[in-house]
Amino acid sequence: MAKRDYYDVLGLSRTADEEEIKSAYRKMALKYHPDRNPGSKDAEEKFKEATEAYEVLKDREKRERYDQFGHAGLGSGGGYGAYDFGGFDISDALRAFMRDFGGFGFEEFFGGTARHERVNRGEDLRARISLTLEEIATGVEKTIKVRRFERCEECSGSGLAPGASEKSCPECAGSGQIRSMHRTFLGTIQQVRTCGRCGGEGKIISNPCPACDGEGRVRQVSTVKVKIPAGVSAGNYMTLEGQGNAARGRGRAGNLLIIFDEKEHDIFTRQGNNIICQIPISFTIAALGGEVSTPTLNGDYQLKIPSGTQSGRVFRLKGKGIPRLNGGGVGDELVQVAVWTPTELSTEDKKHLEALNRSPNFKPPRSDRSFFQKLRESLGI
Ligand SMILES: [Zn+2]
Ligand SMILES: [Zn+2]
Repeated sequence: MAKRDYYDVLGLSRTADEEEIKSAYRKMALKYHPDRNPGSKDAEEKFKEATEAYEVLKDREKRERYDQFGHAGLGSGGGYGAYDFGGFDISDALRAFMRDFGGFGFEEFFGGTARHERVNRGEDLRARISLTLEEIATGVEKTIKVRRFERCEECSGSGLAPGASEKSCPECAGSGQIRSMHRTFLGTIQQVRTCGRCGGEGKIISNPCPACDGEGRVRQVSTVKVKIPAGVSAGNYMTLEGQGNAARGRGRAGNLLIIFDEKEHDIFTRQGNNIICQIPISFTIAALGGEVSTPTLNGDYQLKIPSGTQSGRVFRLKGKGIPRLNGGGVGDELVQVAVWTPTELSTEDKKHLEALNRSPNFKPPRSDRSFFQKLRESLGI
């Protein structure tokens, strides 16, 4: 899409002075600011476009270059300097805007309440749980201990000593907020901050509960049950709502984030939803075929080894891996066999082996690519 003329974007004449540029941009930016137009792609584009125009026109050098050469004067490809707006994204635009117009008391422009809302919420907590592959395969219920703030039972969270009452905070007259007016070049701005005396509660306690010092919550070790679904991976987490710290005074408790770790397994390594293991087999089984006992995540499995099996071959046990987290099947177990060579031989053993060694069938092929290629392919899992 061709870029619009920067003066057109801001509705300015070519002779606009610095103040006019600033004021035109401010109007545009406030109108199309993403905070005021949540989810609107169109507004976001307009905000970016206006900010880009402003960034150029407010800068004397860039503006001169633009006046002389147009957009080409600014692109890195134009050969006139190194100001490339190709990667100008919304966060750059917001930063540029906040740099010149943000800061002090700015939220009030947008009637923003988020920062001053009197939401009294307990802190979120995190806990880690280490799981074995067996637990991951089936899902498991775990009981963990969490050190957290819980509602004080002595005062039921009010923070008041028995018989005491709370008064309206004299500092903020019970509103929990202190308002003040400030002059800035954008006009008079009202700033609101949380009252320091009552911590935004609007109330103060003359006689605090001795058990919790008036906080309405006490720290203790609690037991939390966690039901973990099958198929989780290291780094996955679950949010247990309301299981974090209780709020100071009245309010909602925070959440408890449970993050999963995976314990190393003696036999298996995990690859996505598949599990992989290696098992040794005797060379007689490899040559004759037979069954070998193979570990799986739920007990042993009799694996059929066909005659003439080469060392390194991989067998796939369908559905013996780990279930996908959100349903949709189960991974496989991949078993790689390695031919195991005996290290201790009796005189009798030796006699048999020496006889076999004379048989032409016991001569391996000369090193040829296809043999090792096949082996590599089966290893390629
Ligand atoms: Zn107060
Ligand atoms: Zn208490």
